[in-house]
Amino acid sequence: MRTWEFGETDLLVSFFTFDRGRLKGVAKGARKSRRRFANCLDLFSLVKLEYELKRGRELYFLHSGKLVHAFPGIRSDFLSLSLASYMIELTEILFPLGVADKEMFALLKNAFLVLNEGKRNGVLRILFEAKAMALGGYRISLDKCSGCGRPYAGEGRAAFNQSKGGLACLKCEQESKISPGLSPDSVKALRIIQSAPWDKMEAFDPNDEIIREIKPVLKLHIEYRTGQRLKTAGYLE
Ligand SMILES: [Zn+2]
Repeated sequence: MRTWEFGETDLLVSFFTFDRGRLKGVAKGARKSRRRFANCLDLFSLVKLEYELKRGRELYFLHSGKLVHAFPGIRSDFLSLSLASYMIELTEILFPLGVADKEMFALLKNAFLVLNEGKRNGVLRILFEAKAMALGGYRISLDKCSGCGRPYAGEGRAAFNQSKGGLACLKCEQESKISPGLSPDSVKALRIIQSAPWDKMEAFDPNDEIIREIKPVLKLHIEYRTGQRLKTAGYLE
């Protein structure tokens, strides 16, 4: 996910694992000798890492690594690179060190595979955002009005209530810049994105109007729930 120079010849590495979540470790001598970590400490790579936790320490010790997938397509243009950086930043915020989530690992890997192929850039961002937020515990509530509690029957437009993290009926909330509106189709699409497994997403092809409506909702939702505007988000506008 990220590396920093550490001491004279080492690298400090932040990486996301299948079974232990996000970890940090030291790759001894990685800046001097590339052999043990050939190409596998580059950003946005899927690698097999051999590592161990030193007793009484927070940092892992990286022994060696083997590159599984370099996702070269991600590095081929600025927008893909920015979107990948954004995905990493959102993951770092949602998953503190040591919080394991196998579905999040799979989401990152699948999103990078799609990004690598240069397809679906428009829809990929909202897919990733909605799914990552749901996995991080911030699923947008779509079943009832967050104001009056009236069930949302899937008919008529609704507005998004940022502080409640859910839908509101138009009696409780007017559509505006800070409470963007959603059509029934957009609500349905958002429900599918939040719940359906990734392999169902290939057939999922929302029209531009739906993407245009869902985008600001996720932006406001992420800003409110994470308490910050992501540094990398600016590169995507
Ligand atoms: Zn209401």
